[in-house]
Amino acid sequence: MKRVLITGASRGIGEGIAKRFSAEGAYVVGTATKKPELEQGFINQWIEADFSCNQSLEYYCNCLSGLEGFDICINNAGINIIKPLEDVSSKDYFRIQKINLESPYLISRALVSGMKSRGGGKIINIASIWGCITKKHRSLYSTMKTGIVGMTRALAVELAPSNILVNAVSPGFTMTDLTKNSLSIEQINLLTKDIPLGRFAEVDEIASIVTFLASEQNTYLTGQNIVVDGGFTTI
Ligand code: NAP
Repeated sequence: MKRVLITGASRGIGEGIAKRFSAEGAYVVGTATKKPELEQGFINQWIEADFSCNQSLEYYCNCLSGLEGFDICINNAGINIIKPLEDVSSKDYFRIQKINLESPYLISRALVSGMKSRGGGKIINIASIWGCITKKHRSLYSTMKTGIVGMTRALAVELAPSNILVNAVSPGFTMTDLTKNSLSIEQINLLTKDIPLGRFAEVDEIASIVTFLASEQNTYLTGQNIVVDGGFTTI
């Protein structure tokens, strides 16, 4: 049975990915800042951790090293902070940096030796279209998401001899809490007009690409950033 770790599995894209892996028969370990109150059948084991907090992140990485190894790691947890550059505080910078960039890096590091002893593995980092393109007030988010794409390339090269394939998936606009908190209804309606497929993505449309990359069917694709955006960045 494949063992999968999914960060940020309590909601949105992470929850969608967890449901997919569970349906495929994997053993799913999910993380959230707080385990959801309602029992979610698609998660076999929860780990609570707040990646914005040094102690929690360190404790969490130690926990991971102590668990049986994983075949698949999905670095999905993330936040968005939209602000003009001059309003960005150091606190904002370090918070988003810890959650969106440092935690995927340290978690990947914690899982590599287990993957090696299992004969290989797959790491999939959830980036964003804002790592490929950008717009004003996205300096924090674009910085971190561009960083995770660079990290994906570097880890893919370093880990290839150990049969660990590392890729990024960059969703476009997907209807989750993060989107609802970042955009007004007016903005959502306006943006929809600029998406060639004429709609936001469903969570499952992102999850299906992630599960393909993590599957036995993917034996040769590594170091790539797969943009899943309904054509938004091509126009
Ligand atoms: P979401 O619905 O807001 O869910 C975010 C997940 O991350 C939750 O499980 C949350 O856990 C976890 N998380 C938040 N802060 C955390 C912290 N301090 N420590 C640990 N975990 C934390 O977001 P989403 O839209 O599904 O986004 C998932 C990923 O996709 C993110 O990396 C995001 O940047 C990326 N993305 C999203 C979109 C989009 O349109 N939605 C587009 C491009 C990329 P709790 O429930 O405990 O808060």
